[in-house]
Amino acid sequence: MDYLPLFVDVKNRPCLVVGGGDIAARKAGLLLKAQARVTLVSPRVSISTQALINAEKIQWVNALFSAELLNESILVIAATDDEDVNREVYKQAKQRNILVNVADCPALCDFILPSILDRSPIVVAVSSGGKSPILARQLRARLETLIPPTYGRLAELVGRYREKVQDKFPKISMRRRFWESILQGKVADHVLAGREQLGEEVFQAMLQKTQSEELQKGEVYLVGAGPGDPELLTFKALRLMQQADIVFYDRLVSKEVLALVRREAEQVYVGKQRAWHAVRQEEINQLLLVQAQQGKRVLRLKGGDPFIFGRGGEEIETLAAENIPFQVVPGITAASGCASYAGIPLTHRDYSQSCTFVTGQLKQGELDLNWASLVQPRQTVVVYMGLAGLPVLTQKLQDHGMPSTMPVALVQQGTTSHQKVWISTLAEIAALAEREQPVAPTLVIIGEVVNLHNSLSWFEIKD
Ligand code: SAH
Repeated sequence: MDYLPLFVDVKNRPCLVVGGGDIAARKAGLLLKAQARVTLVSPRVSISTQALINAEKIQWVNALFSAELLNESILVIAATDDEDVNREVYKQAKQRNILVNVADCPALCDFILPSILDRSPIVVAVSSGGKSPILARQLRARLETLIPPTYGRLAELVGRYREKVQDKFPKISMRRRFWESILQGKVADHVLAGREQLGEEVFQAMLQKTQSEELQKGEVYLVGAGPGDPELLTFKALRLMQQADIVFYDRLVSKEVLALVRREAEQVYVGKQRAWHAVRQEEINQLLLVQAQQGKRVLRLKGGDPFIFGRGGEEIETLAAENIPFQVVPGITAASGCASYAGIPLTHRDYSQSCTFVTGQLKQGELDLNWASLVQPRQTVVVYMGLAGLPVLTQKLQDHGMPSTMPVALVQQGTTSHQKVWISTLAEIAALAEREQPVAPTLVIIGEVVNLHNSLSWFEIKD
């Protein structure tokens, strides 16, 4: 970070603008918006500057810049078209330790003016560190569409009740929960839709009826983190991730996804790998329970979908038995994610009318699957955890009559920047895997649809 973002209170404080053109007028206007006391020095002024002078909003010194004008100022903005003058302003300001900005000249700036989205009292400032003000403006325009003008009204409303809420809920954690329920619930809906009075009435009712104990109850969020690409998270997943106190996450959860969890939340790795368990399943169940019993909002973040080969059911069984509230948020499972990003439709009118998900995890070197059903034609078989057992799996399928020419895809680390796809046949894929050594997680897709990869592949990884 090259600059520290600050919001400075300039109300009634003396600020100097050097220059009388349109840019100077704009800078003066900005300072006025923040209620600064503005002095503008310039021997000539443009029409827009004149308008500010006529409206008696700024004090005009009709002269050339002189250093003593700085003695009274807390900051100065130079916006003349004379480089020497700008440089002189900079030099004099530095000598006096006054913050200085020279328009369009980052090298002569102590501070830069960001692009501003004003939803007062909410203000969003975007800066490109002087590298590209136009890019910052474009970003601000995008934010404009996301943050409706009524956000300011919402902030005003909650601002009026800050102290009351503080009095009623002495603990920070309680207040945080109370505000979250307000700002994500009906009150916010009403105010953002322009029904401010109704919003305030609902707010008052909630403030009165909410009991401290309610705000101290723990809860568990069992959330599917998807296959890796953070953009594949659901809105709900993201919202719960942002309000968790502690997160227990898997090996399959990508670091990009983890980075979106509330920064203050404690992070605990409970990943499992094929051959060893970092924390055994029963221990995980217990950990979730204990943390929720302590009143925490516990996020259990699992790769893909928690109810597909994720043992999510077992984790919430313990909670259900102990009456701990929980929510389950589905995620995009590896089959959907990998198939989409590899350009392999899981079903297709010409090739496949059904799709089966199976686990290829070996138990004592064996696979216990319903082979007769898996070898039926016109279907797609997706194998999770199938890499280590690939030789057994492919042999068994052939033994039960699946053609050895059946196309098979291996999708390594699907949807991520490490995605790799290999295509081969049932007879040859195990040897290919032996040669290429795909890394976990890798998904196996078997069926005629795999051939479509050649024409439908679209996801390109750029290094
Ligand atoms: N609950 C998860 C699956 C857990 S089982 C889900 O719904 O996706 C773990 C297996 O999922 C891995 O062995 C691998 O076969 C598959 N898998 C998960 N994420 C994957 C990814 N990004 N790319 C390829 N395979 C993946």
